[in-house]
Amino acid sequence: MQTKAKIKSINCQHFINGQFVESKNQRTFENINPATEEVLGTVSEGGKEDVDYAVAAARRALKGPWKNTTLQERSKILRRIGDLILERQEELAHLESLDTGKPFGLANSIDIPRAAYNFHFYADYITSIGTEAYQQDQQALHYSYRRPVGVVGIIKPWNLPLLLLTWKLAPCLGMGNTAVIKPAEWTPMTATVLMEICKQAGVPDGVVNLVHGFGPDSAGGAISEHPDIDAISFIGEPGTGSAIMRSASDSLKKLSYELGGKNPNIIFADAELDEVIETTIKSSFVNQGEVCLCGSRIYVERPIYNEFVSRFAEKVRALIVGHPLDEDTNVGAMVSKEHYDRVMGYVEIAKKDGGTIVTGGKRPDGFEKGFYLEPTIITDLSRNSRCIREEIFGPVVTVTPFDIEEEVIMQANDTHYGLSATIWTRNLKRAHRVSHQIEAGIIWVNTWFLRDLRTPFGGMKNSGIGRTGGMHSIDFYSELSNITIKL
Ligand code: NAD
Repeated sequence: MQTKAKIKSINCQHFINGQFVESKNQRTFENINPATEEVLGTVSEGGKEDVDYAVAAARRALKGPWKNTTLQERSKILRRIGDLILERQEELAHLESLDTGKPFGLANSIDIPRAAYNFHFYADYITSIGTEAYQQDQQALHYSYRRPVGVVGIIKPWNLPLLLLTWKLAPCLGMGNTAVIKPAEWTPMTATVLMEICKQAGVPDGVVNLVHGFGPDSAGGAISEHPDIDAISFIGEPGTGSAIMRSASDSLKKLSYELGGKNPNIIFADAELDEVIETTIKSSFVNQGEVCLCGSRIYVERPIYNEFVSRFAEKVRALIVGHPLDEDTNVGAMVSKEHYDRVMGYVEIAKKDGGTIVTGGKRPDGFEKGFYLEPTIITDLSRNSRCIREEIFGPVVTVTPFDIEEEVIMQANDTHYGLSATIWTRNLKRAHRVSHQIEAGIIWVNTWFLRDLRTPFGGMKNSGIGRTGGMHSIDFYSELSNITIKL
């Protein structure tokens, strides 16, 4: 704790053409600590003029020295960025915790190491990829030539700020693109430090640019509609995705979307219950439930329903809700007042819809300030309740019994979302059968959040467009030309 105490929050400026700059109109907004409601610092509020400046820098850099870097040189830069993130791990984890309200221990063990790994992974991956070639009898040889997409707008959410930014930025830079980044307005700090790191690692000026600000009528809107931005990589809510699609339609941008989820966690009676409960605690409440992959709809086969609810609730009551910088804290503060009110609104809806609050549902005792909510389990809701149908994105889960496989598959798919699902069973045939019928891009059997960065990641239905990970990211951040040579 000694070192962390010395780490201070920072004021956040834009980073454009290799320099930290304030907004053209000098506007700023306050960054609020969700754990204390105190002001952490100021953030430059970017708008169209700042985005224009950043896009011009990114466009120049695309044609400048960055164009002539070799794959090996870019790989070395990515590796160096990953190394520098690890060198500043504790500082970054501290800033992430201050900004988001997540426990420092979580940021220090998951968010920041994974941010470094995103760069290390793509440092290796980009050096091993090839392109297709086809020999058409004696007539012709066809091969694909890969080049960057151009200037990429990266628009980010607040829940895993550095982890998700680096997940996009590493392959984007690896394939030779330049970027204009807009972090979420509630969590600007680690993205700002990453700009320093990129510069130190040897990223040329203008290749990476950052503009802080809000969504529509602000930096986010200006990026979405900018005619000189070629592609947008967006992570956030489906409604925002639609708005960005509308703004981006005039210039027909290439889009990659990772959106929300209302993910089913399906527990069959033959599952290993101790392991189920241990993992379900994480898949329900890690990061205050503010993870797109959280299994917020829990379905339990009737014979073990009562036992599951009572054992799960007992463990959940033992979770420590506390200040994000306290070592013992399991569940920190939610990110903002606006989000806290929204999540509490769902608890009220559950009560009105006849739900039973098994545990939680209220601010923990002893917290006058900060956006804290006890981890909450709700039962007895009908499938039409908004709590079952809509993404709550907080420490709130519903538990529903089921009797037969077909019924739970139908309920699991009864949503506009299709991001992820978890299935717990010892029956291998059933695991395959159910997995193949669940409409989700990511399906875990007897585990949760186990990731291999080579695999396709993303959602179907309203949970996303396209896949990232491994070659899927390479394809998004590059354009292919097919060259045909007559033999
Ligand atoms: P959000 O959609 O409200 O905001 C995301 C970003 O978009 C922010 O930077 C915001 O300023 C910007 N924005 C808002 N309106 C805009 C507009 N009209 N034009 C351009 N930019 C605009 O999402 P959020 O509340 O920050 O994040 C939570 C959501 O993100 C949840 O739905 C969650 O499931 C989803 N998410 C998905 C994944 C995934 O991998 N699928 C990962 C993390 C979060």
